[in-house]
Amino acid sequence: VSTFRGKKVALFGLGGSGLATAQALVAGGAEVTAWDDNPDSVAKAGEAGVPTANLHGIDWRAFAAFVLSPGVPLTHPKPHWTVDLAHAAGVEIIGDVELFVRERRAQAPDAPFIAITGTNGKSTTTALIAHILRESGRDTQLGGNIGTAVLTLEPPKAGRFYVVECSSYQIDLAPTLNPTAGILLNLTPDHLDRHGTMQHYADIKERLVAGSGTAIVGVDDSFCALIADRVERAGTKVVRISRRHVLADGIYAEGSRVLEAHGGTSRLFVDLDGIQTLRGGHNAQNAAAAIAACLAVDVSEDEIRQGLKSFPGLKHRMQPVGRKGAVVFVNDSKATNADAAAPALSSYERIYWIAGGLPKEGGITSLSPFFPKIVKAYLIGEAAPAFAATLGEAVPFEISGTLEKAVAHAAADAEHDDKGASAVMLSPACASFDQYKNFEIRGDAFVTHVKALQGVTMLI
Ligand code: ADP
Repeated sequence: VSTFRGKKVALFGLGGSGLATAQALVAGGAEVTAWDDNPDSVAKAGEAGVPTANLHGIDWRAFAAFVLSPGVPLTHPKPHWTVDLAHAAGVEIIGDVELFVRERRAQAPDAPFIAITGTNGKSTTTALIAHILRESGRDTQLGGNIGTAVLTLEPPKAGRFYVVECSSYQIDLAPTLNPTAGILLNLTPDHLDRHGTMQHYADIKERLVAGSGTAIVGVDDSFCALIADRVERAGTKVVRISRRHVLADGIYAEGSRVLEAHGGTSRLFVDLDGIQTLRGGHNAQNAAAAIAACLAVDVSEDEIRQGLKSFPGLKHRMQPVGRKGAVVFVNDSKATNADAAAPALSSYERIYWIAGGLPKEGGITSLSPFFPKIVKAYLIGEAAPAFAATLGEAVPFEISGTLEKAVAHAAADAEHDDKGASAVMLSPACASFDQYKNFEIRGDAFVTHVKALQGVTMLI
């Protein structure tokens, strides 16, 4: 990034994306002074050609900007010491997304830029939009909170599309964020540890859509509904999306049908029925948002429908990985608590449910509305006894212990199910750390065990 060429920039936080940001600044000719509390990260940055020095006890007034990495507390419970020093010296504090925004503005202000935020569904929506754009042959860069740091993407140029997932933190540190289309999917209490109150969290998210050319807002929760109204009153073009209400204007879902409405008249845009990777009401919302964003950057309706139909889905999130007859095997390893498991349980009918791991507070009591759909549960890990107690008489279960046994037993039972299509689903409602290093490795193990079954056709 060339925005700070010849200028002094302080940077704190040299983990993955922090280091990438520092390198991009150095490559763009900025005089970087980078630091981290972790000496290993500092050493690694030094080896990578990033100048490092302790930001304590130096004169901050010389810095043109202070770049803060994700993961460093900005406001809550108290600001990081570097934030205090920057404030005291009157140095602006920004993050990597802001650097990207400035670079785009300088190099290719017309390069279409779609930014996505919300409490749930960000990664799915981001990946879906990027997939639609790529399938239609557009030069597409996908990054941000979803994985690839924005500054490691290919540089902005005319005709290149950017699809960037933004955390609230990144929005907070991007004062001039101005995407072509901005999506705010939903807002539910989450991440309040860092942002204090829900209102403050909502205010930050609002900034993303307030700065957008087209603001795409999910209006199914009260915070977002108010935001849509407010942003519209301020003169921004708003496209409302909903999975719960018929809209007079906007894009809404009724079951698997996604409709587009103008002035009270609706027409079917696409039916998601049969698209395995977009099952469930939550995915209908994600698809509606993706449709609105793609329309906003002039993708044709047919191209959008094509892309929706071929979406491969995200790994470990309600991902259909294999099929045997009427049984589909679903990897939802990302569901590390009961709330996260709810969408998967609501999206299938006859479920052979593999659950358990390291239990979280609250257990699975909140999932009881789905119990009637669970043909049998296969419990693994430390949570097994507690989950068994909750399931009690309501749901047949076995304590399988390991994932391997759970998959084998669930598959054998499902195969003999003559009551219709069913799903063998890992949606553990637990962290993985008792048996696996992380949820990805747990999900990969599930896939391996499914592959080992006789007669399964893999879908991935
Ligand atoms: P994020 O990136 O915001 O964490 P993901 O796209 O990774 O979201 O989805 C994580 C989980 O959140 C999914 O497995 C699903 O359970 C749930 N989810 C996805 N989309 C939505 C949505 N639009 N509304 C509510 N929950 C959702």
